[in-house]
Amino acid sequence: FDTERFGQHILTNPAVAQGIVDKANLKPTDVVLEVGPGTGNLTVRILQASRKVVAVEMDPRMAAEVQKRVLGKPEQKKLEIILGDFVKADLPYFDVCISNTPYQISSPLVFKLLSHRPVIRTAVLMFQREFALRLVATPGSKMWCRLAANVQLYAKVEHIMKVGKGNFRPPPQVESSVVRLSPRDPPPQIRFEEFDGLNRIIFSRMNKHVRACFGAKGVKEMLEKNYRTWCAENGKIIEDDFDIKEKVEQILVDSTFADSRAAKMDVNDLLKLLAAFNVEGM
Ligand code: SAM
Repeated sequence: FDTERFGQHILTNPAVAQGIVDKANLKPTDVVLEVGPGTGNLTVRILQASRKVVAVEMDPRMAAEVQKRVLGKPEQKKLEIILGDFVKADLPYFDVCISNTPYQISSPLVFKLLSHRPVIRTAVLMFQREFALRLVATPGSKMWCRLAANVQLYAKVEHIMKVGKGNFRPPPQVESSVVRLSPRDPPPQIRFEEFDGLNRIIFSRMNKHVRACFGAKGVKEMLEKNYRTWCAENGKIIEDDFDIKEKVEQILVDSTFADSRAAKMDVNDLLKLLAAFNVEGM
């Protein structure tokens, strides 16, 4: 198998495979999405506990392998394979996602699952340990970051178990961890590009005051450009003496976050800061 190209590290420890499936708390009526089924070590266990499995697999040889495994069994009818790249695939309806996928697609995987509608119930996912620890990080901790804030806006995230290299064939170079995402339902009514846009600014130097982050090169210019566009679209006249620097300072001071640091701000603080800009048309 093409280990390098597809990140094919097969999970060979049956106890870990079963543990992952158990953590999804599947109902017999569930439709489960699996990303990268490989030879099917998770797939056969998911099939036993669910109504249907839709598996997206990029490598035709792996797809054939997993299909062979259920051939002639009752599970065969419950398995649908989508051959192709998960990142580009149109996803059908599913309730739960379970996956041990190559770590290159960790970030796109998480955000594709979180933006899926209707909101899914749970995702149990294997990641590189470092990525998993960033996902579950809390404000004020060393690992707190833009990724954690963006993901925790949409979901509760839990670290479920550590999985050592020795549980895979061939063993990967890094340690792994299983994480469970439980998306908030209904999802917060936030424009993600704005929330992430704010986070890009204040997490770029997360130990500096928010005010200093807004002073970074290019930030005010970008805000002013967007603000002028917004005013034009909303028929708002911009005063002649408009000064973006003053405007931002006033918003930051009024919001009480001017001297805060992203390193210590939780999702609620970030939402409040975004709202303070939004009411000013920014
Ligand atoms: N899930 C199996 C297991 O736990 O043993 C296989 C894990 S292996 C780390 C990753 C699997 O994802 C491989 O079968 C690989 O071919 C597949 N894959 C890699 N990139 C993919 C992508 N972008 N979309 C769908 N499948 C992918």
